[in-house]
Amino acid sequence: MAMNMILLGPPGAGKGTQSKRLEDTYSITQLSTGDMLRAEVKSGSELGKQAKAIMEAGGLVSDDIIIGMISNRVDQDDCKQGFILDGFPRTVPQAEALDSMLSDKSLKLDHVIELTVDDEAMVERICGRYTCSKCGQGYHDKFQKPAKDGVCDKCGSTEFIRRADDNEETVRNRLSAYHEQTAPIANYYGDKGILKKVDGMADIDVVTSSLKDIIG
Ligand code: ADP
Ligand code: ADP
Ligand code: ZN
Repeated sequence: MAMNMILLGPPGAGKGTQSKRLEDTYSITQLSTGDMLRAEVKSGSELGKQAKAIMEAGGLVSDDIIIGMISNRVDQDDCKQGFILDGFPRTVPQAEALDSMLSDKSLKLDHVIELTVDDEAMVERICGRYTCSKCGQGYHDKFQKPAKDGVCDKCGSTEFIRRADDNEETVRNRLSAYHEQTAPIANYYGDKGILKKVDGMADIDVVTSSLKDIIG
């Protein structure tokens, strides 16, 4: 049976890390609006051109762009078994648009889970974050090193990338954007009675088991 869920939390909370693990366990697809936007920027599309400066400054891209992107993506075959929304919705209008989009498509949300963390720790997590440029596996300078230094555990590649916006100044802007515009959606789902919280400060494996306990 298909399962659709949202992982909520500020930059660095572990949404990407945990989504990748849940993808493997439940055969569902991670839909990261950040990844989609970075692909648009890389391709040089009109949308990418509009988004680039906003992302570099740590602001939010317009709701219309994001909602259109997600709506198309959810229709694709790899979402039939279900999806994990990572980085979307990020504003109350996006959450409302998601509700009407899902009901139009006769889909529903099974879980909304917030990873609760503290801000200062997020600065350290974001500034130490890097990714395998070949397979996308995520790492951290201190908290998630590859078994063999400089070699990706998953695919053996020796090339890694760091995001342009993963610096202290931008992270602070992203954290403010989160508190001002995204945190209110926790109440939105809380009021609907489908919000659950998981301690995102725990070790990566502990967070994964807490999520699996909720999902079943
Ligand atoms: P998000 O997608 O929410 O922005 P990530 O999953 O990319 O966050 O995690 C940010 C960084 O912190 C990554 O480098 C990751 O390896 C690391 N990380 C993720 N979860 C934890 C955790 N529970 N404890 C310590 N470091 C973590
Ligand atoms: P994080 O690691 O902070 O969770 P993401 O990869 O989710 O970062 O997002 C990177 C950037 O892309 C954000 O700072 C924002 O500019 C833009 N972005 C991603 N998702 C959304 C969204 N749902 N609404 C508006 N802007 C978004
Ligand atoms: Zn790799």
